[in-house]
Amino acid sequence: MPVDATLPYDDDNIFAKILRGEIPCDKVHEDEHTLAFRDINPQAPTHILVIPKGRYVSWADFSARAQDAEITGFVRAVGTIARQAGLVETGYRLLANTGGDAHQEVPHLHVHIFAGTNLGPMLA
Ligand code: C5P
Repeated sequence: MPVDATLPYDDDNIFAKILRGEIPCDKVHEDEHTLAFRDINPQAPTHILVIPKGRYVSWADFSARAQDAEITGFVRAVGTIARQAGLVETGYRLLANTGGDAHQEVPHLHVHIFAGTNLGPMLA
C-alpha cells in the first residue's frame, strides 16, 4: 500500500532496518550521508536504490528538513554511483516516488537509478 508521505518517520521501515544492518542488502556504495544497494525486484538491467542515512520519509521531507551537507552529499553520491557504473555514457533515469499518487511503498526516501536498456519515453 502506498505510504502517506506526510506521516512522521517510522523507524521500523525496511530501509531503516537495512541502514541498521538488521536486514542484508546488495550494497554498491556507502559514504557519510548515503547508502546505495541493488533493488531486490529490478525493473531494468541496472536498478539501484540510493537512500540518505538520515531519517527522511520522502523527497518532500528531505528537501524541507535536511542539512545542506546532507543534500549535497546525497546528490553527489547519486551522480558518483551512476558515473562509476558507467551509466553517463549510456544514459540513466532517476525516480523518487513521493506519496500516494506516486505509489511510494517504503517510507524512507529512495531515489531509483534505472539503466542498462533503452527505457523509452517516461510516460509511454
Ligand atoms: O518507490 P517505491 O517505494 O515504490 O519503491 C520501493 C522499492 O524498494 C521497490 O522497487 C522494491 O523492489 C524495493 N525494495 C528493495 N528491498 C527491500 C524492499 C523493497 O529493494 N527489502
